[in-house]
Amino acid sequence: ATPLLSVENLDVAFHFKDNDYHALNDVSFSVFSNEVLGIVGESGCGKSLTSQAIMGILPKNASIQQGTIAFNQKNLVNMKEKEWQKIRGDAISMISQEPMTSLNPLLTVGKQIGEVLKQHRSCSKSERKEKTISLMKEVGLPRAEELYKSYPHQLSGGMRQRIVIAIALIASPQLIIADEPTTALDVTIQAQILELFRDIKNTRNSSLIFISHDWGVIRQICDRVVVMYAGRVVEQGKVSDILYEPKHPYTKGLIQSIPDHTKRGEELYTIPGTVPGLKERKGGCPFVDRCSHRMDVCHTISPEEVHLENQSVSCHLYAEEEVKNVSTINRIR
Ligand code: SF4
Ligand code: MG
Repeated sequence: ATPLLSVENLDVAFHFKDNDYHALNDVSFSVFSNEVLGIVGESGCGKSLTSQAIMGILPKNASIQQGTIAFNQKNLVNMKEKEWQKIRGDAISMISQEPMTSLNPLLTVGKQIGEVLKQHRSCSKSERKEKTISLMKEVGLPRAEELYKSYPHQLSGGMRQRIVIAIALIASPQLIIADEPTTALDVTIQAQILELFRDIKNTRNSSLIFISHDWGVIRQICDRVVVMYAGRVVEQGKVSDILYEPKHPYTKGLIQSIPDHTKRGEELYTIPGTVPGLKERKGGCPFVDRCSHRMDVCHTISPEEVHLENQSVSCHLYAEEEVKNVSTINRIR
């Protein structure tokens, strides 16, 4: 199948007075239709920046240096701002972590949804209200008629996030990018919002990119996952395969640090060290300072992506295990 979105060899740099610093290096992954792709990694690994690149909303001092972002086989890189805006409004929607920042505190939520509806189709005032209420119901807001007249601050965090999701659905996007959409919410509400995303995927046939630092969230909603570290993709594959048998030392560390309720009382594992800052990155493997498997080569040569049977991994430990021909593997089995 042709992917809905295909990011290839994406390289994004920040421009500072002293130099250009590469925040994304050779990032490649695809999203297929009706799929939920997770992007996981600690903060500072380039997850949000990747989504900003896809949306064409990079910070002012950052730009795409190399690579393609193909959406429905059309390269968005070098597209005119006008065209990109159209795609952003119609085909790709984004939901951020803090719903308050995307809502206007001075407008009732009903009005806000109505305003966005107006931009997308012409309809009478009463039709607009009807559509707004039905959207609010679709995202699981009870007593929608009453809530219609509420201001954002009168709603709980979970309800506000539902309003933001309702707004994101107005254009019937093919792709929804959700950047840590449940991080600010408590666990019960988080589970309900994840359920809502699952419903949306199924009823609307949308694809989702779900960004999170939390494997607990990723395992609940994603089909495949891309693990990012210091601006690079270090491993990708099906969530079930990677959870069962992570290959990259970074992924192993992340999975080892998932809280396990059966091991109460034991101290939770954390990966030693921190993600190198943008200006501290050197050649070689980006994980080298924190890796207990590092070898000499890791300091100098950046590992290439190796395709294994169930996942791809960028680590010198697997340099000679490439699966060249999948049918051979199947025969051996
Ligand atoms: Fe560790 Fe080397 Fe693999 Fe990097 S390439 S993760 S340093 S073993
Ligand atoms: Mg982020």
